[in-house]
Amino acid sequence: MSILNADLHCHSVVSDGTLTPEELAARAAANGVELWALTDHDEIGGQQRAAAAARSQGLKYLTGTEISVTFAGETVHIVGLGFDPQDPAMLQGLTDNRGGRGARARDMAAQLAKVGIQDAYEGALKFAGNPELISRTHFARFLVETGVCSETNEVFRKYLTEGKPGYVEHRWASLKDAVQWITRAGGAAVIAHPARYKFTANEEFALFTEFKAHGGQAVEVVTGSHTTAESVRYAATAREYGLAASRGSDFHSPDESRIDLGQLPYLSGELTPVWELLADRIQ
Ligand code: AMP
Ligand code: MN
Ligand code: MN
Ligand code: MN
Repeated sequence: MSILNADLHCHSVVSDGTLTPEELAARAAANGVELWALTDHDEIGGQQRAAAAARSQGLKYLTGTEISVTFAGETVHIVGLGFDPQDPAMLQGLTDNRGGRGARARDMAAQLAKVGIQDAYEGALKFAGNPELISRTHFARFLVETGVCSETNEVFRKYLTEGKPGYVEHRWASLKDAVQWITRAGGAAVIAHPARYKFTANEEFALFTEFKAHGGQAVEVVTGSHTTAESVRYAATAREYGLAASRGSDFHSPDESRIDLGQLPYLSGELTPVWELLADRIQ
């Protein structure tokens, strides 16, 4: 098996993307993707549709999700690939992790109301294809729609990140739980976009060390949220920790995402692609 154009990270309307699983599969195929995974946040409700759409587009497919985790006071994302989408512990864990989103969204709206932005909860909800998955992205789209900001990045910068008026602390799953849900369901756990976290060297060491100790197997090296220099850096990190490497655009929307499905550099040949560990899970 020699797959180069694997895209193992993207989002549909089932979480905070704007395209359906079928539209994503067609776009991935048009962009030359050979192996695809839909990785909606904390939710696997789109997996059957994605796998069927992949089949009809002639794409190889791995099941996927991106789990929100709290580690050392920061939110870290762990991608799961190739797991059994019917695994009961995994389903329950994801349901629990989604559970806090409604109350958090209401708190966010209350904060935004204090700075003069009314009805943001209802506004964000209109953009959420899946109300259980109401996320900061949906608030960002509402604030762009109402003209408060001109693009979603600006909303995050001014309102939705730590220290800004619409930001609400939240406690997600533990690293151990997320890694174990994935691995016990037969999948591989992957640290998503490691360059995005604001960790000290010691905290990053702890993340990678504990992730490995819990059974984590890979790290995203080439992603839409890394610069070339960051990909080089995390290729070295993967080798240092004996982790396999993943590649994924993190595509959310044709209007918002800088990197399209499949349109990113290949993994360096010195790395073990995570899909080699998952050969028997590819559909
Ligand atoms: P949540 O899970 O509700 O905290 O929302 C997190 C999502 O917000 C991420 O998955 C990204 O899609 C999006 N996001 C986070 N930071 C930014 C940013 N600076 N610009 C645009 N989107 C962002
Ligand atoms: Mn997202
Ligand atoms: Mn992420
Ligand atoms: Mn993502």
